[in-house]
Amino acid sequence: MNGKVALVTGASRGIGRAIALKLAAEGAKVAINFAGNLAKAEEVKNEIESNGGAALSVQGNVADLEVVQGIVKKVTDEWGTIDILVNNAGITRDNLLIKMSESDFDEVIGTNLKGAFNFTKTVARLMMKNRSGKIINLTSVTALIGNAGQTNYAAAKAGIIGLTKSSAKELAPRGITVNAVAPGFIDTDMTAVIPEKIKEEMFKNIPLGRPGQPEEVANLVAFLASESANYITGQVVCVDGGMAM
Ligand code: NAP
Repeated sequence: MNGKVALVTGASRGIGRAIALKLAAEGAKVAINFAGNLAKAEEVKNEIESNGGAALSVQGNVADLEVVQGIVKKVTDEWGTIDILVNNAGITRDNLLIKMSESDFDEVIGTNLKGAFNFTKTVARLMMKNRSGKIINLTSVTALIGNAGQTNYAAAKAGIIGLTKSSAKELAPRGITVNAVAPGFIDTDMTAVIPEKIKEEMFKNIPLGRPGQPEEVANLVAFLASESANYITGQVVCVDGGMAM
């Protein structure tokens, strides 16, 4: 990936952080988007730079199209183009359907689904001119098998699958691939809030019997972003210890 420019949303922590570090280790220049956690984003930037890589931190809410256009401009002003886009930023606002507030539904759709639409729409123009590009969207096994307490999240992540397949068909003639990665239970801040007892019950439904690590998701994303994956598009690939088979 030497010389390629990658933009990873939600890269200050968790899976996004691991993806940013992995793409940088493979030689890409990496723009690190985040919502508010400047200190964590700077840590990722410093780690990439101290390993000899190039990084840029770009704060901004993925749910806001104007903000997203500003972020893309900042990256292209610095590095000229974007070759790899990873739509990773995501949040949860879990509750049972009948107790879920309208704002909890809207916020999750806004960040997890509209955020990916905003970036895909903006970056696709550049990639179409280049007649190449790789887009990887983070969905979830929840989109495939459902999860009580996550109707908002599952709907957003199922939307990501529709966005992935439709944009893959639209963009394939221009040499751009679009794929989705569906993690199962991964050890990050997002899952750290789940009580230990419930986690133990969840692990019983994972054939490999353990949670995944962010790096294990990053390895798959890096493969899909590489030239080795040139003939793969419109796919949803699980990295879930067998949870959703
Ligand atoms: P995480 O540890 O909670 O990190 C979330 C990241 O998203 C942070 O960098 C955060 O920035 C950023 N973010 C949140 N809202 C944003 C917004 N509106 N605009 C820009 N950035 C925003 O999450 P994670 O567990 O790594 O999850 C990463 C992705 O994988 C998500 O799409 C998630 O749905 C998906 N996923 C995770 C799991 C899992 O088990 N962890 C399973 C399946 C799918 P700040 O640091 O600034 O807040």
